[in-house]
Amino acid sequence: RLLKIAIDGPAGAGKSTVAKLVAEKLGYVYIDTGAMYRAVTLQALMDKIDMRDETSLTRLAESVGLVLRVDEKGNTRIVLNGVDVSFQIRTPLVSRCVSQVSQIPGVRQRMMQLQKDMAAGGGVVMEGRDIGTTVLPDAEMKYFLTASVEERARRRYAELLQRGFTVTLEEVLADMAERDYIDAQRAVAPLKPAPDAEIIDCTGMTVDQVVDIITSRVSG
Ligand code: C5P
Repeated sequence: RLLKIAIDGPAGAGKSTVAKLVAEKLGYVYIDTGAMYRAVTLQALMDKIDMRDETSLTRLAESVGLVLRVDEKGNTRIVLNGVDVSFQIRTPLVSRCVSQVSQIPGVRQRMMQLQKDMAAGGGVVMEGRDIGTTVLPDAEMKYFLTASVEERARRRYAELLQRGFTVTLEEVLADMAERDYIDAQRAVAPLKPAPDAEIIDCTGMTVDQVVDIITSRVSG
């Protein structure tokens, strides 16, 4: 039987790396829902839409073409209205604006529908903020990954450097703390563990340890 696995948590907790590896090991499809919110945000920036304009942002989310796939290296590729924007969605500007866009109920509604459709057949590892609570409340396995804010900032910083961005650790820490705050306080689908989620504090754990915990539950 093909399961649905939900992995939620704040930025930089290692969700993407863990979710990607779990999917690879199980032969499941990895779905990065943050990439979808980032793509909508990128389009809004390109269209010069005001980040507080709920009507325009909802209309944009409803009409936007989004295709997610995983390349040979296991990395998410996201195609926005026919253009591969996998790199552009990671810029600091998009990171700064995405929490505002993702607060809007109409935007979340459309993303949730697309995500539910993608997961319908099972065999997915879906990663985000509200997967266990809202998108896939029926997921057989739910995990909420956390880590200390310092460790999360260090990881994000290393990731951004590796992608070729010029940032400082202080900037990453400040951006991340602000994004986490907005994500946790928003009215619709705030970041919090589902009541039936297992919480894993990844501070000081290796990626492989976390992956092993999750995959051992599937086979065992
Ligand atoms: O996972 P990532 O850090 O790329 O997500 C970017 C932003 O997208 C989050 O800070 C959050 O505002 C939003 N998001 C969300 N719900 C999800 C996934 C991401 O609101 N399921």
